[in-house]
Amino acid sequence: MLHTEYAHLNKKENEAYLKSLNTRHNEGVFPQLKAIHEEVFSKTDCLSCANCCRTLPALLNASDIKRIAKHIGINTKQFIRSFVLEDINGEMMLNGVPCKFLNDDNSCSIYEIRPDACRRYPHTDEKEYIRRATLNLANTLTCPAAYEILEKLKRHFLPMIYEFNGYIPVIDESSYVHPQATVTGNVIIGRNVYIGPSAALRGDWGQIIIEDGCNVQENCTLHMFPGKTVILYRDAHIGHGAIIHGASIGRNSMIGMNSVIMDEAVVGDECIVGALTFIKAGQSFPSRSLVVGNPARIIKEVSDEMLDWKTEGTTLYQQLPSDCMHSLRPCEPLRSIPPDRPTQQEVYKYFGKKQ
Ligand code: SF4
Ligand code: SF4
Repeated sequence: MLHTEYAHLNKKENEAYLKSLNTRHNEGVFPQLKAIHEEVFSKTDCLSCANCCRTLPALLNASDIKRIAKHIGINTKQFIRSFVLEDINGEMMLNGVPCKFLNDDNSCSIYEIRPDACRRYPHTDEKEYIRRATLNLANTLTCPAAYEILEKLKRHFLPMIYEFNGYIPVIDESSYVHPQATVTGNVIIGRNVYIGPSAALRGDWGQIIIEDGCNVQENCTLHMFPGKTVILYRDAHIGHGAIIHGASIGRNSMIGMNSVIMDEAVVGDECIVGALTFIKAGQSFPSRSLVVGNPARIIKEVSDEMLDWKTEGTTLYQQLPSDCMHSLRPCEPLRSIPPDRPTQQEVYKYFGKKQ
């Protein structure tokens, strides 16, 4: 298949992707884009392609016109008469495609002084890229390099957020959803929420509400029977690998790693559920319960000290969305340990050690 066929086939997906780039969470995109641009163009032979020069009239600015007219030995008025077309918006471009300056061997006869727009095409190494979804999409249909750059970029920054049956997830701008988490359908995410890699939030059959300050850590699954709702009330803390199926988790409660909370179970406010706990369908626990085991049972009340510890841990997670937005980015690994690599601080200990 030709690149143009792939580009048309992926047009809808690419359009959605390009539009999604223009969000707050794009700090890492530009360095990656630039690196991909350089890699792709180091292997691209424009002389065997020339699609842009054959099919797109190059835009001109006033200094292009002056420069090229001078180069070919005519004045600007003559140049405009012979080479320039003005569209209804007043934009000027070289008239005729293929371009009159394109040689038979695909070289450009005015290469050194070509229009600025030609020099910059397909604009894949420009900071403005993330704001130009329409132009970028159009370029993928013409330029095989622009298409390849976009496909490679998608592998690094593909937010897995999906509309389902007309439901589009709603995610507050202050929250961070890792690009490798999947958020589908009727999902509402409040402020300062952290969603870790490989978490799956499937709001396809019912609703998922995640209130402000919650975290849903790596490999968690949130799902439900048709028509049911999963609710995580404010500051709920869902540990690595936990499954919440059609249940509700109370305000400032913590669900330990790899626990399973079944349908219509209710975990009250300020509860702590130990790692690997199984809460069966319909079970409910009052506020301040410390719950462990399979089947789950209350072993004592959550003390003020335990709750302070839990709250402190959740506060760390509430800082994580902002940290991720500002410092998390794909990178090439180092091949050796730098001598000045700093040691990380032990700012938070597990509960037993805290005593
Ligand atoms: S001026 Fe040169 S680079 Fe620009 S479209 Fe014409 S041939 Fe191509
Ligand atoms: S369309 Fe893209 S790959 Fe082809 S000549 Fe133009 S810039 Fe090069």
